[in-house]
Amino acid sequence: MKKAIERFFLPLTAYGLLLFLTGCTTLYNPATGRKETLLPTSIEQILVGKMRMEMGLTSIRIGRVDAQQVTRVQEIGKAIAAVSDRKDVKYQFGVKEDSSINAFNVGGGVVYVHTGLLDKTDDEMLAAVLAHEVGHDAARHVVKHMQAAYGFVGLMKLAQVAGMKTQSAQLANFMFGLMMKGFGRQDELEADRLGVRYLHRSGHNPEALIRVFEMFQKEMPEGPLEKATVWNRTHPLNSDRIKQAKEEIAKLKQKAFCPACGATYAVEVKFCEKDGTALKLQEAPPAANPQGQPSKP
Ligand SMILES: [Zn+2]
Ligand SMILES: [Zn+2]
Repeated sequence: MKKAIERFFLPLTAYGLLLFLTGCTTLYNPATGRKETLLPTSIEQILVGKMRMEMGLTSIRIGRVDAQQVTRVQEIGKAIAAVSDRKDVKYQFGVKEDSSINAFNVGGGVVYVHTGLLDKTDDEMLAAVLAHEVGHDAARHVVKHMQAAYGFVGLMKLAQVAGMKTQSAQLANFMFGLMMKGFGRQDELEADRLGVRYLHRSGHNPEALIRVFEMFQKEMPEGPLEKATVWNRTHPLNSDRIKQAKEEIAKLKQKAFCPACGATYAVEVKFCEKDGTALKLQEAPPAANPQGQPSKP
């Protein structure tokens, strides 16, 4: 037994072992509404760091990128990040010189936007793209796919400091693969739902997400896959995404209310905090008079 334990743990560094023993916890993720057992953020950041090194993504400016373009992405990105459900990462927003209309997330709060996308979007549309990407991070989609591919122990080994080069190459290959095939339909729709939420919270108009899909419909009609980037290659059809975004935007106008005591809650709350009664949905009052504020004469 002791031998087996040694064989298992010896390859891990002391640091890795410590994290391994303390890290594997199941937590409620407010972004997804699920209880999830996920890799600790500290390990995710080591893995993402290695991956970025190997992929040449260590700078926030990749290729010929104007300082102005970076400032634009960072200012909008920071406002979105501030309202994310995920607070344990330092979000970083970079720009990559690439004419294709695309943006991508490599995990650990790191998001890149292509110059091709910047050319096609106004600030509100850019906010919508960034809100979707921050949604991927809040829902920890990169980590989820990494865990599915390597398992928890496999990832702990990849995070080790020793033998960095092969491990980094392996991670980079994985990331390229993930970028080619995309996160999958459910994850994309989830990131869209979170995107609507974050746009609303940060004071942007969530309708801009619909304009982004319309732009994709115009620029990249669904069809030849080789023309598509990760933003619409394996993503659900733009028409499906528009439909869902409209439903989510409509929900923002609703409130949940308790038929027993009359208290009102945000639409995602299901039960009254005071008496446990199942809540019902109602349209929010049309006047812009948030609850508790005296109305002006
Ligand atoms: Zn996406
Ligand atoms: Zn109640």
